Amino acid sequence: MATTAFRASIFHCLADPGPSSNDAAVQYLDDGLLVVQDGCIEGMGNAVDLLPGLSKNIDIVDLRDKLIVPGFVDCHVHYPQTDIIASYGEQLLDWLNKYAYPAEQQFSDPVHASAVAEFFADELLRNGTTTALVFATVHPQSVDAIFESAKKRNMRLIAGKVLMDRNCPEILRDTAESGYDDSLALIEKWHGSGRLSYAITPRFAVTSSEEQLAAAGRLAAEYPDVYVHTHLSENRQEVELIARQFPWSRSYLDVYDRFNLVRERSMFAHCLHLDDQDRGIMAKQGAAIAFCPTSNLFLGSGLFDLQAAHDAGIKTGIGSDVGGGTSLNQFRTLSEAYKVLHLQGQSLPAYAAFYLATLGGAAALHLDDRVGNFERGKEADFVVLDSSAASITRRRLSMTTDIAEKLFALIMLGDDRAVSATYLQGKQAYSV
Ligand SMILES: [Zn+2]
Repeated sequence: MATTAFRASIFHCLADPGPSSNDAAVQYLDDGLLVVQDGCIEGMGNAVDLLPGLSKNIDIVDLRDKLIVPGFVDCHVHYPQTDIIASYGEQLLDWLNKYAYPAEQQFSDPVHASAVAEFFADELLRNGTTTALVFATVHPQSVDAIFESAKKRNMRLIAGKVLMDRNCPEILRDTAESGYDDSLALIEKWHGSGRLSYAITPRFAVTSSEEQLAAAGRLAAEYPDVYVHTHLSENRQEVELIARQFPWSRSYLDVYDRFNLVRERSMFAHCLHLDDQDRGIMAKQGAAIAFCPTSNLFLGSGLFDLQAAHDAGIKTGIGSDVGGGTSLNQFRTLSEAYKVLHLQGQSLPAYAAFYLATLGGAAALHLDDRVGNFERGKEADFVVLDSSAASITRRRLSMTTDIAEKLFALIMLGDDRAVSATYLQGKQAYSV
């Protein structure tokens, strides 16, 4: 059995610290030891307590000037939009037509899909993201490309083929039947293969016919352990369009609910313009939300009400939503989340922010029995942070007196330079 111990400062969440920043929900070890055996967490504790009892054969990786945290979980991102990140000037519906759809057309070419998937997977690891829920494009080969890149790196990744059969360029359309058949074949090929899982992925209700949504719902019922991944209530014009397209619906959520797509393992990105009835249905049926702050600000979509989601009891993670979002880095994403909430009189203390990006995201994806913190038996996906890599961060952090203050400054100032190394199941997958 291969055992390695990592000596560093260690921080993780044991539960949701909430907006009051409950200390009992987190654990911080200033001089800690994280023991990894065969890719899983064997134990953790203070180095002085654990070192005397360790076998002499165990490798000890000395990272005493660094901070180890669980790998970040990105609950919503589009890998085919990597190349259109930071495209100027439009709100959602025009942005899709002007930038996203032309970029996605190129993914009919498996060589192009593979090149972008390789870059994207490396970029996730470079930013400390070890688990992601990813949109591909309408092309099945785009799903093969991202799964192949993830498998090669042993990443825990969930992805799916986009379903869209109307209101988008003809060349990007499938049909209710072909979308169902292609998704089914991809589930059989990839779901449960290593660390990979499949997500049934209607783009959003605007671009799917009722026949297609019904077919997606049938597939979701046939495969209850497969995910459902889509967008919900992002932009006001989009919400108005939904009301016209589905005149029978009570709300945008009601459209998905009608077709049995609101369930456990359903992840809805954005959820900006919901009412309490929607939130109650999502909580009761076990659906989750991906809060995508950089995208919501960049596309001028609106401000996510985290408190309302929290009060309703809806599991919530954080999503970069690249290319609508402006960074794959979770420090950048969390710093915008803080500001989005601050504008609404809500708070996001450092512990709660780290929870969103680690254990909270894992729980929202029903993966908190596998990843998200350093409980014994979980998969050893973690990030080694180096706060000295940027001069302003180094200077500010040298002034901090406790871990909450340190983590908060790191969220506000940090970016990919703060990631010194990323480990997947105890093996180094990236280092500076
Ligand atoms: Zn999105």
